[in-house]
Amino acid sequence: MIDFKALAEKYDTPLYIYDFEHIANRYEELKKAFSGKKSLICYAVKANSNLSVISHLAALGSGADCVSIGEVKRALAAGVPKYKIIFSGVGKRDEEIEEALKEDILLLNLESEAEMDRVEQIAKRLQKEARISIRVNPNIDPKTHPYISTGLHENKFGVDIETAKRIYIRAKNSPNLDPVGIHFHIGSQLTELEPIKEAASIVADLVRSLKAIKIDIRFFDVGGGVGIVYDDEKTIDPADYAKAIFSTLHGLDVTVVCEPGRFMVGNGGYFVTRVLYEKVNEGKRFIIVDGGMNDLLRPSLYNAYHKVEVVGREGEESEADLVGPVCESGDFFAKNRLLPPTEPGDLVVVHSAGAYGFVMASNYNTRPRPAEVAVEGDKERCIRVRESFDDLVRLEKMCL
Ligand SMILES: *Cc1c(COP(=O)(O)O)cnc(C)c1O
Repeated sequence: MIDFKALAEKYDTPLYIYDFEHIANRYEELKKAFSGKKSLICYAVKANSNLSVISHLAALGSGADCVSIGEVKRALAAGVPKYKIIFSGVGKRDEEIEEALKEDILLLNLESEAEMDRVEQIAKRLQKEARISIRVNPNIDPKTHPYISTGLHENKFGVDIETAKRIYIRAKNSPNLDPVGIHFHIGSQLTELEPIKEAASIVADLVRSLKAIKIDIRFFDVGGGVGIVYDDEKTIDPADYAKAIFSTLHGLDVTVVCEPGRFMVGNGGYFVTRVLYEKVNEGKRFIIVDGGMNDLLRPSLYNAYHKVEVVGREGEESEADLVGPVCESGDFFAKNRLLPPTEPGDLVVVHSAGAYGFVMASNYNTRPRPAEVAVEGDKERCIRVRESFDDLVRLEKMCL
């Protein structure tokens, strides 16, 4: 059990706490599920990019899926070997492509023909052969929130199957491109297996037709997106997930790559905030805490549900909105939730905040971003100190 009181006392609030044992268990669980074949787990760094989180996973053998050169640099700095780093994303600047090629990472994952042209030119200038994969869009409805659905034609991600085939042939014929992988990612917080299996099946068929024309795809990247429990969702069992993907391969000789983000870190993170006071507006109860939407954006951005718990309080629960101090009506963590009476200073723990929590934090309202603490058994250490006012204004200039 994590001693939220002691940690809040020591590091103050608002505060992020990560359970590193949970994260390790998630990694091992997934690795075991895929152990029947060659596999590589590339943690999606964007979910939680703290260097200590990445290095914790790297030490277990994880690679990294990155969506900016900044994330590639984080992965390298955290000790992920270059041959386990993938660079994805719909838009990459020339400098990012150049640096990725110079770092000689495992592969660049491309999302359009225009991007392929650009990578080819840059690789030519550097006299290199760029290892690439192409993100295909299998046009599958992942049955998740529209903001985090990515595998339909109406989304900006990837290329359709026909285009993919055509540009793989172009890539094969280019001396500066080496098409070694294929990739899809149909969405996030997926709780149903069937859409993933359908997508994998479509993409596996494409791999077979590419192999038939001597385009030897070695990395079969099934993306991320495996959902977690926030409320009472039924989630995908890692063993079933791996089995479903293997079942579409029919003996294809590929390394299965997966890119879990949320699955790895989501349930292992807690956001801890303190009650400032309660107020009642025309019968509606509000609990006002010191954390805000700038610290944890998911409820405001996706109307996402997070379990909340008032530490050490029981008693007559009544409906309340749990809100922050930011000057926006959208600044809330929970709405119409049954919560016990609180006193100023009480701690509120927002559960499942390890993914897309701190990484989406901002300084809106000139609020310093929270500290982050890692807990491992009975040991704890600060992995990012709380920002100060000076940090917030450090890059600004007063032009008089
Ligand atoms: C966001 C993303 C992931 C990780 O998604 P999760 O839902 O956190 O697992 C993996 N791959 C790609 C390409 C992504 O964009």
